[in-house]
Amino acid sequence: MKTDHNNLCAPESRLISTSWFVFVLAAANTFIYHLPLAAYSLDNIDAISLNGLRTLFTLLVIVYAVSVILFFSFTLISTHLLKLIAAIAAVGNALALYFITTYQVILDKSMMGNILNTQTSESAEFLHPKLLIYIIVLGIIPSWIIVRTRVESVRRVPALIYMTAMLGITLATIYVNASTTLWFDKHSRRLGGMIVPWSYTINSARLLNDRFQENVEITLLPAITLIADQKSVVVLVIGETARANNFSLYGYDRQTNPLISATDAIALPNAKACSTYTTASVHCMLAHDGAPRGSTESLPSYLQRHNIDVVWRTNNWGEPPLVVEDYVNAAQLQENCNGPHCDYDEVLLTELVERIESSDKDNVFVVLHTKGSHGPSYYTRYPGNFERFKPVCKSVELQKCTAAELANAYDNTIVYTDFFLDRTIEQLKKIQNRPALMLYVSDHGESLGEYGLYLHGTPNAIAPAVQLEIPFIIWMSESFKQVNKVDSVQFKNGPYSHANVFHSIMGAFGLRSSVYNEKLDIFNRLE
Ligand SMILES: [Zn+2]
Repeated sequence: MKTDHNNLCAPESRLISTSWFVFVLAAANTFIYHLPLAAYSLDNIDAISLNGLRTLFTLLVIVYAVSVILFFSFTLISTHLLKLIAAIAAVGNALALYFITTYQVILDKSMMGNILNTQTSESAEFLHPKLLIYIIVLGIIPSWIIVRTRVESVRRVPALIYMTAMLGITLATIYVNASTTLWFDKHSRRLGGMIVPWSYTINSARLLNDRFQENVEITLLPAITLIADQKSVVVLVIGETARANNFSLYGYDRQTNPLISATDAIALPNAKACSTYTTASVHCMLAHDGAPRGSTESLPSYLQRHNIDVVWRTNNWGEPPLVVEDYVNAAQLQENCNGPHCDYDEVLLTELVERIESSDKDNVFVVLHTKGSHGPSYYTRYPGNFERFKPVCKSVELQKCTAAELANAYDNTIVYTDFFLDRTIEQLKKIQNRPALMLYVSDHGESLGEYGLYLHGTPNAIAPAVQLEIPFIIWMSESFKQVNKVDSVQFKNGPYSHANVFHSIMGAFGLRSSVYNEKLDIFNRLE
């Protein structure tokens, strides 16, 4: 071996070709940082079957080929660029691997949103000696090796040939193993979130792009006129992952709504979500035109701008851009919350009556964005005394639980939601000086193993009904019914949807503007 006397710091090394460097780098990337991916795949396939082995092989080829092709594409600009990116990616991968293995997260767009939204105080909780070991062993040492490796300058023609060949091999592998397509389709979100460094880079870019679009394009809605002087309070409870199918109010054969079914709350029939995932649903229900990605002002900002006291309390995330004065999250509310339930949705009710009664505005609009039944850890969504149905699924790998355990855990979240809504109604009953209305609408439903599907997020066109059929429940105080001349008979017929939310809340406050649509206002009796 030839010693490089010109660079005394460098270890004995020789110049290696770019192609060789890329192939080794891609192999290292595939085998060092994808153990969680391999473990997940082994858990979810029948490895001893031929189809299982084919699935694993196809996955391996895809991960390796994507790395080879992208690494080569950087060399087309310069090998220095490749080394720089690969060195940074090694540290990023080490961090990603730590979070994936420690918290079982997948680095999809919503998770990147959670990570990038994490406050400094919260991120301190993640600091652990294990994290330092990951960063040194899997990040800094590989980066150092990458930086010190001496690579020839690139030859572009061979690089392009290798890229094309790799693409060909991948497509051929996918074609030959077409029988594995369904498996990949089913697990794509989880798999995509574990393929590093592409998962976190691409999903961060997608997230930033979304935010950029949200920031530049918001148009204000037209001026509002007030047609009545009714001084109301409206509480909109946005549910999470609650499906109508598991509410006894919607005909479920288990008693999951013991408390609200004893009140005069009304379950609106045939209610549908506009989408199967949180951000799109929360956007559309608060938009005048039901658009899942708003380019116009959302309802809370619109009302705030027209002298209504708007309070947004959240134990969740994914809301549209908001311009409201009183925005608080669960962590902030916990500071004033006492009792055993402050870790659950109930924290949103902390001093709510006091907040409403102390308002100096005529009308008060409160949004409570709950965590509801968010999976996969359904059993963590309710306090222990709400474990009405047993035994419950305690694995995040839902397919490992029996259908009964899964339904039990999920149904307990609905029992807790029932309690939460009943408590909200109780709070509103305490408010004497204003007509009060509560609307509860879930953002979307959930699959609990029907057709082999779990969780939600299936595109609308092919989504099963359970992901789109949602509970939409209203409760009105007696004075609200009188002031608005509403009676329960007018709610007999559906269908209802997220499109009703914006216009019905406008109606409940007696507000009108050129974007208000009386046909979508459920309180407006059309003669
Ligand atoms: Zn959701």
